[in-house]
Amino acid sequence: MVNQRADVVVAGAGIIGASCAYRLAERGLSVAVLEASSTFASGSTGKSAAGVRVQFSEPLNVMLSWQSIQEYQEMPAAGYRPIGYLFLVPLDQWEAHYQSAVMQKELGVPVEVLGLEAARRIISFSPHGLAGATFGPADGVVDPHGITQEYIRRARARGAEFHFDAPLIQASRSGGLWRVDTPLGKFEAGFIVNAAGAWAGQLALRAGLSVPVRPSRRMVFSTAPLKTLHTYPLTIDLSTGFYLRSEGERLLLGMSNPNEKEGFVEGIDWSWMETCLEAGLSRFPWLSETALDAKASWWGYYEVTPDHNPILGLMPGTQGFVNACGFSGHGVQQAAMVGKLIAEEIVDGRAHTLDIDPFRYQRFEREPSAKERNIV
Ligand SMILES: Cc1cc2nc3c(=O)[nH]c(=O)nc-3n(C[C@H](O)[C@H](O)[C@H](O)COP(=O)(O)OP(=O)(O)OC[C@H]3O[C@@H](n4cnc5c(N)ncnc54)[C@H](O)[C@@H]3O)c2cc1C
Repeated sequence: MVNQRADVVVAGAGIIGASCAYRLAERGLSVAVLEASSTFASGSTGKSAAGVRVQFSEPLNVMLSWQSIQEYQEMPAAGYRPIGYLFLVPLDQWEAHYQSAVMQKELGVPVEVLGLEAARRIISFSPHGLAGATFGPADGVVDPHGITQEYIRRARARGAEFHFDAPLIQASRSGGLWRVDTPLGKFEAGFIVNAAGAWAGQLALRAGLSVPVRPSRRMVFSTAPLKTLHTYPLTIDLSTGFYLRSEGERLLLGMSNPNEKEGFVEGIDWSWMETCLEAGLSRFPWLSETALDAKASWWGYYEVTPDHNPILGLMPGTQGFVNACGFSGHGVQQAAMVGKLIAEEIVDGRAHTLDIDPFRYQRFEREPSAKERNIV
């Protein structure tokens, strides 16, 4: 039975845990990563739609994504493809969406406001009810597995140890250390990083803490290969939340179900596919010429917080428990920067490259916290 001491135990070997482990090891700390399953990226990271974008309504989300995108641009393993994100915006959401685009431009990120005719030159759609569009030319897609694997490689090269089939079962703090039970034995560490994705609420409970992250299932549907080849950007109809994008010769499609029950519900809800397709066909009538490939479709969990923003940094009311969770469906695109900030929080006592105060746990103590609107 292992009885190991490390500066930091990172719980979870998805893209967030891997990025944190790399940046902590880079700063000279000893790191033990505990992963419940038998391999890396087997949670939400391996199920995501892999999109990266700067188009958020909360400035900190814009910066977390933009600085991460810039890191992915320089990382061959990230497989960054700038296919763009196109938001189609209905009349009743236009003013708020436009103001977000103004804020994004002020932050210096690439975003363009388009009229409907210009947007229709990118993708054919029916314009009913729409006021305008925005396009992020540096937005696109990445390879979440490739990024996670690369961070694990870099972390290991700096001495971090990864333990699989090693769930954190229970953790308690005494004598200035966290004492962690796993099926592999006990670990001791000054810090625990909660990078357990949709399981982050559950993980916190195992340490006697309450962190408001809940799982909510999402589906991604795939078409069969299309007859004509064309690369479609990730295009979102904000009037319904329906989105599509190209993946090779296929299209990926999806739409969040507002009535989806929270919890670890499994499998694809095929009745939701019908609703999703109806919404898609009303905006993109040409979809009627595509065929769905049920076997290439999949599902996974969003890790949802009350305001759809992540929870970052030291947990108040205890010592050495650091949250890096609750990304509410946009963690892949923020992982690079989150790893850096969490390492700063632990090594320097406070994250400083970006001010993470808006996303600290403490925001829930001063309700209402600002809600991220651009959640897909
Ligand atoms: C359908 C879908 C589409 C998405 N699309 C996008 C997108 O386009 N762009 C984007 O940025 N994001 C997207 N996301 C969200 C993104 O996948 C997540 O935000 C991101 O993967 C979170 O990474 P993570 O490492 O925190 O979580 P995960 O990858 O889930 O990793 C958490 C890990 O913790 C492990 N774990 C759980 N309990 C314990 C325990 N007790 N002890 C140790 N380990 C434990 C789990 O096994 C898991 O491997 C999407 C998600 C889904 C489901």
